[in-house]
Amino acid sequence: MPLAQLYTRDIPDLHTPAGTDLLQVLWCPFDHPPKSYMPRTVLFWRSAAKVANVLAAPPEPPAVQRADYLPEPCLLLPEQVTEYPNPLELSKELRSLVGDWSRWEAASDIVDSCNASYPSEFYSTNLSVAPGWKAGGWASWGLTDPIPQSCPACDTAMNPLLTIATNEWDSSNHSWIPYEMQRSVAPTRAGESRPNQPTAIQIGRGYKQQLYVCPASPEHPHTELMQ
Ligand SMILES: [Zn+2]
Ligand SMILES: [Zn+2]
Repeated sequence: MPLAQLYTRDIPDLHTPAGTDLLQVLWCPFDHPPKSYMPRTVLFWRSAAKVANVLAAPPEPPAVQRADYLPEPCLLLPEQVTEYPNPLELSKELRSLVGDWSRWEAASDIVDSCNASYPSEFYSTNLSVAPGWKAGGWASWGLTDPIPQSCPACDTAMNPLLTIATNEWDSSNHSWIPYEMQRSVAPTRAGESRPNQPTAIQIGRGYKQQLYVCPASPEHPHTELMQ
């Protein structure tokens, strides 16, 4: 069933194979044990100009394993953000610089001194890996320490393509909430307010499903990781 449709005209960081400018992500809304307790995704790279006969109502699956695997239709309002690696991906030297509050004070007069006791946490919640759905960017690590992802076909280091997140933000990272979302609250399927979960998708116990692609060839299989 359809999960996401991304155009390069909206998302310049989406690196599409030559001749394509559209990524369609479909998924099978069931867990796939024993290897994967997540839906399985399929990627279609297309040229938007060549797409004809658009279905008004995409087919719905006869069954889904969990209601959490049925996405709520959403219109994307993509925003390009700058984010930095997970602290565990920084070198030892950089980690110690990030943990030194005097460096933050010297670098900017807008940093809030209430963060002085926890400079590393200030970095990880406000500046490193952005929460929520995103194309590209740095990988989020939480279930495990960082694990290099290599292509099953050619062993090249893979790049994050898409993060399918349960939550756009949580109580620890309010600084990432878009300004327009801070004012409005969108209703969701159950009628309750869950502005941080507009897609109504939940991965595992509230984790993220990361898709990785091989930079050497779009023909090589993509991989999926829960974090
Ligand atoms: Zn399946
Ligand atoms: Zn490869």
